[in-house]
Amino acid sequence: MYISCSDTELLLFDRIAEAAGRLEAEVFVIGGFVRDKIIGRPTRDADIVCVGNAIELANAVAALYHPKPAVAFFKNFGTAHFKIPLNANNGEVLDVEFVGARKESYRASSRKPEVVPGTLEDDQNRRDFTINALAISLNKNNYGQLIDPFDGLRDLEEKRIHTPLEPLTTFSDDPLRMLRAIRFATQLGFQIDPQTFQAIVADAERIRIISQERITEEINKIIAAEKPSVGFDLLYKSGLLEIIFPKMTDLAGAEYIDGLGHKDNFYHTLQVLDNIAVHTNDLWLRWAAILHDIGKPATKKFEAGHGWTFHGHEVVGGRMVPKIFDSLKLPMNDKMRFVRKLVELHLRPISLTKENITDSAIRRLLFDAGEEIDSLMMLCEADITSKNKQKVKRYLENFEMVRERLLEVEEKDRIRNWQPPITGEMIMDIFGIGPSKKVGDLKNLIREAILEGEIENSFDAAYRFMLDKAAGMNLKPVEGKLGD
Ligand code: ATP
Ligand code: MG
Repeated sequence: MYISCSDTELLLFDRIAEAAGRLEAEVFVIGGFVRDKIIGRPTRDADIVCVGNAIELANAVAALYHPKPAVAFFKNFGTAHFKIPLNANNGEVLDVEFVGARKESYRASSRKPEVVPGTLEDDQNRRDFTINALAISLNKNNYGQLIDPFDGLRDLEEKRIHTPLEPLTTFSDDPLRMLRAIRFATQLGFQIDPQTFQAIVADAERIRIISQERITEEINKIIAAEKPSVGFDLLYKSGLLEIIFPKMTDLAGAEYIDGLGHKDNFYHTLQVLDNIAVHTNDLWLRWAAILHDIGKPATKKFEAGHGWTFHGHEVVGGRMVPKIFDSLKLPMNDKMRFVRKLVELHLRPISLTKENITDSAIRRLLFDAGEEIDSLMMLCEADITSKNKQKVKRYLENFEMVRERLLEVEEKDRIRNWQPPITGEMIMDIFGIGPSKKVGDLKNLIREAILEGEIENSFDAAYRFMLDKAAGMNLKPVEGKLGD
């Protein structure tokens, strides 16, 4: 045996062997489960490949459990799966998926393979990488034997991503595999075999036939890895990034005029992404790191005697966020708005550290960032990528000071989830007017006066202030409303 399994898994395999014996079907556990067990990664799903009727086998195995788990199946694909509890205490389950062994044959005229039943060997041939083609027999005659036709075990030991067949064949059959190669290299810390990588470079264009959803799923898995920069660097060097996310490659490179250059914003972004990945697994905060400087290429200017500037890149970048989310088919919901907000605000804490930090500036930041203030501070710290140790130390100390001031002011003024004490409805009601510019103006004046500290944060103070300003706008309270 090459792997160590839990009692739940061993019992499962015994039952599969028993049912398969009765049905006279050959059966193997294959792919990600075997790979992850060998390298000691946690596994949540087990792929079972069966030379025979997989749906029938799945039902026969499920029937050996009490209570019998519900079997979901897809008749057209000949696949079935069910879940069994892995850990009764925390509700973890193992998803057991049964598929019939398949052979793929491609006709030049069609992108879609014709899938026909095949042997285990056929099935291993159509797997993406040698490390994903390992199978362990669950048959009585050779139970537990590893079937490894492509020396995947050695590639696992040597940490190598290598296609089982000639790489161009494997990739042209399903171009998504090019992204999977990079994703596995990133997740597992493996090297892509040079020949395999060259085939990705040569075949990169073919990624265009893959649906955006499948592409984005791989991008997100790369982002969720421990060191996501590895994947983006490979995507960039292979030419895939230019095709699947050109806005990000626009960040790459440094231009020089009069001997003055700027930093390479692509590699800066990758460093920020790795920095933030140390502190959070939150996918959307990691997306904010990827997009924080996305407005730089569009705002880049060379100012004589001064150097390169990117004025307003946070505003332009913020505006790009919905378009990028839409084109990548990422959700257009509060996750997108969260990322946009962080991109828009990512310079604010930095600019604070340069002046003396007034209460009003802190209140304003708290008001604008709201619930996102902690995420924003995390992004800003990750954004410090200077190689100058002194500079980094100074920035970090400044941020520490900003954090202290944020706590202090929040304690005192409670701005974080604050809404001004007088709403638009109240203004319309008091002055007997409909929705109009004046309502908005008054609302803004009140909010500004409180944030600036000109008036106290209370209803009475805001009410008096409003009456005063309204008088100058020819607005009078409706009779009887005064002093309500
Ligand atoms: P993870 O579950 O971490 O994404 P995995 O290797 O288990 O990794 P799955 O997508 O669950 O990946 O697929 C299970 C197995 O199916 C793989 O190990 C591989 O053998 C095979 N496989 C999946 N997708 C492909 C593909 N596009 N081309 C060839 N084989 C694939
Ligand atoms: Mg899997």
